[in-house]
Amino acid sequence: MSILILADHNGHSLKISTRQAVTAAKLLGDETHLLLVGANLDELIEEARQLSGVNKVLVADAPHLIHAVAEDIAPLITCIAASYRTIIGGHSSFTRDVLPRVAAMADVSMISDVIEILDYRTFKRPIYAGNLVATVQSDDPIQVLTIRGSRYKPSESNPANTADVERIEVPTQGLQLATWQSETKQSSDRPELGNARIVISGGRSLGSQEKFQATLGPLAEKLNAAIGASRAAVDAGYAPNDAQVGQTGTQVAPDLYIAFGISGSIQHTAGIKDSKVIVAVNLDPDAPIFQIADYGLVADLFDVIPQLTNAV
Ligand code: FAD
Repeated sequence: MSILILADHNGHSLKISTRQAVTAAKLLGDETHLLLVGANLDELIEEARQLSGVNKVLVADAPHLIHAVAEDIAPLITCIAASYRTIIGGHSSFTRDVLPRVAAMADVSMISDVIEILDYRTFKRPIYAGNLVATVQSDDPIQVLTIRGSRYKPSESNPANTADVERIEVPTQGLQLATWQSETKQSSDRPELGNARIVISGGRSLGSQEKFQATLGPLAEKLNAAIGASRAAVDAGYAPNDAQVGQTGTQVAPDLYIAFGISGSIQHTAGIKDSKVIVAVNLDPDAPIFQIADYGLVADLFDVIPQLTNAV
């Protein structure tokens, strides 16, 4: 039985979480099919065909799928699901929207945020905000998973790999259960939070949106780092939603993570545990962040950051 991977893409290129899902799928050793859903997918099809480990590219290409919603994608997958033993996606907001719906429609369990694949039906996943790791085994006929990307290297492109392409039948219009209205994109020269080699994050202690940007921005610029934030900082409006790091935000795994004025709640640390080196700067020597930090500095971030920026 084959594996189906739901590709996450931006219309022009595959997201890194998709490449990471391909690597995870390879561990299961079965024939791997990558499903592209969207409109005008020719450019993406070429990229997908050359992805090492992909045997076939399935294409659902129709004008109304240009901003496809989970309500329209899940029935497409359900139609072909019976041919697969495993359906995988990276752990992105897109797949977290679509795949639970697929699992519900197929009447099987959703197994999300897998960090280790033991065999085709046995997986490890974090629970209780990452404080425990559960080993789960499912007897369902189809396993529907999202995998935590930071655990898997992205699959590389290999021009010698030219996977077959198969177009699947798509209804002429969406179900209209939900429709796409608009999206706001922020463009930045900085690396994407989920893939950055260095992430610097700020908490509630930054005090305002202006101070958040003015304090962290120059340092991020010098380090070519992505800027993250605690949920408290996001809720206070100091940083945008997509900067949130943690259990309900982005899970990061950079070489270096620096937390400035972040207390270190379990919901925050759940999202940074895979970082190679964690540095924390906090006024409170008893702040929980110091329990997981490799290097800790008890100091005022407003003194430290300008000094660090100059030193870099
Ligand atoms: P605080 O807890 O207020 O800590 C501020 C810290 O800054 C303190 O440690 C203080 O000593 C220090 N400080 C103050 N001034 C300075 C200074 N000048 N210099 C240096 N240090 C200073 N949180 C997340 O971050 N991500 C999540 O994904 C997330 N998901 C959640 C999900 C649920 C269901 C729930 C209930 C909560 C979630 N939270 C999440 C919120 C989390 O519990 C904490 O409330 C939040 O992380 C606290 O943010 P903070 O550390 O910025 O603020």
